[in-house]
Amino acid sequence: MKSMTLDEIAREVAGELRGDSSNLKIEQVSTDSRKVKPGDLFLALRGDLFDGHDFIPQAVAKGAGAVLAERHVLTDPALPFILVPDTRQAYLDLAKAYRQKFDKPVIAVTGSVGKTSTKNMIAAVLSAKLKVHKTAGNFNNEIGLPQTILGWREDQDVMVLEMGMRGQGEIRLLTGPARPNIAVITNIGVSHIERLGSRENILKAKMEIVEGMGEKGLLILNGNDPLLGEIFATFPELKNKFTGRILTVAVEKPADYTAFDLEHQGEAGVSFKVEIQGKTYPFHIAALGEHHVANGLMGIACAMELGLSPEEAQAGMAGFRLETMRGEILELDGIQFINDCYNASPDSMKSALAVLKRLARGKKSVAVLGNIFELGAFAGPGHFQVGQMCRENDVDFTVLMGENAVDVAAGIDNEEKCRILASHEEIVSFLKAYLQPGDVVLLKGSRGMEMERILTLWQK
Ligand code: ATP
Ligand code: MG
Repeated sequence: MKSMTLDEIAREVAGELRGDSSNLKIEQVSTDSRKVKPGDLFLALRGDLFDGHDFIPQAVAKGAGAVLAERHVLTDPALPFILVPDTRQAYLDLAKAYRQKFDKPVIAVTGSVGKTSTKNMIAAVLSAKLKVHKTAGNFNNEIGLPQTILGWREDQDVMVLEMGMRGQGEIRLLTGPARPNIAVITNIGVSHIERLGSRENILKAKMEIVEGMGEKGLLILNGNDPLLGEIFATFPELKNKFTGRILTVAVEKPADYTAFDLEHQGEAGVSFKVEIQGKTYPFHIAALGEHHVANGLMGIACAMELGLSPEEAQAGMAGFRLETMRGEILELDGIQFINDCYNASPDSMKSALAVLKRLARGKKSVAVLGNIFELGAFAGPGHFQVGQMCRENDVDFTVLMGENAVDVAAGIDNEEKCRILASHEEIVSFLKAYLQPGDVVLLKGSRGMEMERILTLWQK
């Protein structure tokens, strides 16, 4: 990070500075005592399992130059301490101040599904010309976001941030410090519907993102999403909240950037064309499924906005690679497995089952599906819909595990086409007997279902 004096930090977080080192320069903020480097500012966060305040002595032993905390834990009395009522808020306040030091673009990505994929796609496309700093992995909450912002280096041209949410007010908390110039909304699905009640409420919660944007902000929306495609009809108040520009992207549908002539090329990925400034350009993505095309369009829209040429966007997109457990394909004993075990929602089940159908083309398709969590009252109908999706995508056989397996089975409505099993071990022994070389298998479930264990057990 660009260095900040302790004095400045104390001011930005409205904290009380104790000790006499106001001119001490901080080059790095650390919240993990194990990773503290000499001279770091150690910021003590309280989590569900750990309280960072318990680790202050350890951080100091590793050479922390100063501490930001909610109470003064006495170590060396000379050690500078900044005291605040709430260190989580202080972390966000500090990130906000730090972001203001950069007169460079910030892109924020939110949506019900595809945030990480889209963030990575945008970063890949932009990296053909720009040095990109982005959220690592899935660190998209009120701790991951300040951590990412404070890691922005002077030699990096642009920052791409993922913003996650579970309820109302959470995006507001993140967009304030991030001050995005461009906000990207991938789609409005049903994730976290148990807290928010309806898709319209989910839309409103996502739209909080514009509150951190200035008047010249740009909002990029997925025109294929029914709610986002008709944004002013579904959310008329937006007109008063947001004065910037809006662009849409869509697959096979009129929009500012439209993908057409899609060609699915099996394992090789998908090709498509886009008209940019009156000329048609071919693009290729090394990942399966139409949903990646939508994400790719977001990358193109950002690239054009930040002054890349269409050729640079083509080259950047060609360099995109999937993160692990988000749809990568591997072959074991002649069987193709689509490892999409990172997480699941009804929306991403839909795209994954479409990928299974396309990859199988004439071969036997098998879906091994774990429960989808956090659907609340929507759990029954949501899982039932997944069963219907299996039918619609002509899945030959479905293996189910988890509390709502019965609901999926009800949606499939054909006992010969599905089986409910109780454990990863049972699934593996069943699959070993059932599968033949040449079959194609989709593995997917919520994070807590750990469906990837099936691959580990298979290889034992
Ligand atoms: P999380 O809430 O866990 O952070 P996320 O929004 O970051 O999730 P990803 O991790 O990118 O989402 O993707 C989750 C699943 O959705 C994966 O199976 C991925 O292939 C699929 N996916 C990616 N992009 C889209 C999209 N635009 N529409 C639907 N599904 C998508
Ligand atoms: Mg994510």
